[in-house]
Amino acid sequence: MKMRLLFLGTAAAEGLPALWCNCPVCANAKKTGGREIRTRSQILIDDCVMLDFPMDTYMHVINNRLDLSRVDTVLITHAHMDHCYPQEFILHGAPFAHGMTEPHITVYGNKTVKKTFRQATKPEMRDSIKRSITLNAICPFDSFTTEGGYEITALPAKHTKGEDCLIYAVKHNGVTVLLFNDSGILPDETYARMAELNLKFDAISFDCTYGHARHGSGRHMGSLDAAGEREKMKRYNLVHENTKYVLTHFSHNCEMSHAELEQTEKDNNFTVAYDGMKIEID
Ligand SMILES: [Zn+2]
Ligand SMILES: [Zn+2]
Ligand SMILES: [Zn+2]
Repeated sequence: MKMRLLFLGTAAAEGLPALWCNCPVCANAKKTGGREIRTRSQILIDDCVMLDFPMDTYMHVINNRLDLSRVDTVLITHAHMDHCYPQEFILHGAPFAHGMTEPHITVYGNKTVKKTFRQATKPEMRDSIKRSITLNAICPFDSFTTEGGYEITALPAKHTKGEDCLIYAVKHNGVTVLLFNDSGILPDETYARMAELNLKFDAISFDCTYGHARHGSGRHMGSLDAAGEREKMKRYNLVHENTKYVLTHFSHNCEMSHAELEQTEKDNNFTVAYDGMKIEID
């Protein structure tokens, strides 16, 4: 196994069941449990690179028995609260954490993320803990290599106005993956750059907020939009015949349960992510 993706959370901002909701999808999730329950979206790459940091990170550590202190890199897609909940970083060190595997952590995000991180952690951040965290503001198209040798490229998503929302291409150990959280159909400049870099993805995880639907333009996607992106990626020669295609970041407003989505998307050659799902890439 050359890379492992662990889908820790797979819901949109409100969670599933949504915090205040009694709709049929949420009622079914509460009743059925298991894969119908989705927490806010987060993906762990191997043991050391984390995509996004929602408020459910604590539950993800408990549910998956993680050693979160093995994470040396956090990639944040954008500053919305379901992707960037930096308050927990005030606990990154003594006296709140002992025997940490990796005492230093680097957080990457756009300049809005950096500002949000600073503001949210300022009231309670200890100087000793602040020194254990490096906060790097990055721009779309920036490439960098993490301490563990993961080659990362930040690419423009299409999401919210006034912020450079990102998706990330991650390359390590001969494997390359492309990880979305919130994004509508990608801008042409993202395709142009991915082609220029000769990226060839072994796995892609798409935004699927709208479930089995086509939204066209907008700040999120449904699986039919994702299928359109997949065709475009084929045209740009960015994928191969064994590329794995995953859908995540689901909203209750798609009006389908996990079981129903799995059934629908099987024919569509998509894997429907659930909390705790592992994808291993050889
Ligand atoms: Zn989101
Ligand atoms: Zn609901
Ligand atoms: Zn968002």
